[in-house]
Amino acid sequence: MIRLEDIKKTYYMGDSEVHALDGVSLHIKPHEFVSIIGPSGSGKSTLMNMIGCLDVPTSGNYWIDGVEGSRMSDNDLADLRNQKIGFIFQQYNLLPKLSAIENVELPLIYKGLGISERTRLAKEALKRVGLEDKMYHKPTELSGGQQQRVSIARALSSHPSLILADEPTGALDSKSGIEIMQMLHDLHDEGNTIVIITHDLNIAKQAERIVTIRDGKIVGDVDNRSDMAGVENVKGSDLGDDENLKAASLDDNMPTDNKNNSQRTAIE
Ligand code: ADP
Ligand code: MG
Repeated sequence: MIRLEDIKKTYYMGDSEVHALDGVSLHIKPHEFVSIIGPSGSGKSTLMNMIGCLDVPTSGNYWIDGVEGSRMSDNDLADLRNQKIGFIFQQYNLLPKLSAIENVELPLIYKGLGISERTRLAKEALKRVGLEDKMYHKPTELSGGQQQRVSIARALSSHPSLILADEPTGALDSKSGIEIMQMLHDLHDEGNTIVIITHDLNIAKQAERIVTIRDGKIVGDVDNRSDMAGVENVKGSDLGDDENLKAASLDDNMPTDNKNNSQRTAIE
């Protein structure tokens, strides 16, 4: 479905270079439920942008359903995103002036659907996430968990084959977080491919496969489905096991005012 090969993404700021991704190779197969875990600044969001065709790499190749990314125009990539990928972000990224249903309809407008089809699909998606009674509410009239459900409905409305979620529970209380994860599990059971980016080990462990990223490199790739988790598919000597996952997760609890983050803030 998605294959990345030796992907590098370098940000240049003045004289300094930030290697946000430093030679990442990753193959995501149809119907997988993959989590990507790593500490803050490790390159998770940059990787999500590559997987989701939201940004292009500095070097390296990638294929989406067998088609090479570098051969696609910006328009092709935008079409592909609209057809095949549903995005969920930590901060929901809903447009505040639009109602829930209007937010959910947005990707369907980009997809070129007419109003009646849009309304039908948007209602169906909002029903799917249990918000049929809140369709005409604005984001500010909804709780965080409800807003994230709207954003899931938006991701689902065009029936994408891949759902990409960047810290989807990061801004939620634990009860809402569990509800959101349950929805992602249900979507996976229905045949969707799910990729979830997180710094939270408890979230990462819910996936079938756990990929660990550090300093822009994949340092672990573990099959999490059996009790033998960690034995198969581990890249690198002792990395990718539970202790390393824990370390990746714990790192994130440390203050985040490191060099990279302050650089990032400076450029935003
Ligand atoms: P994560 O999502 O794991 O916290 P990111 O992918 O956001 O990490 O960032 C990886 C590194 O790349 C960090 O050092 C960050 O500061 C840097 N970075 C990310 N985006 C930019 C950008 N647009 N310009 C410059 N540096 C960036
Ligand atoms: Mg991030």
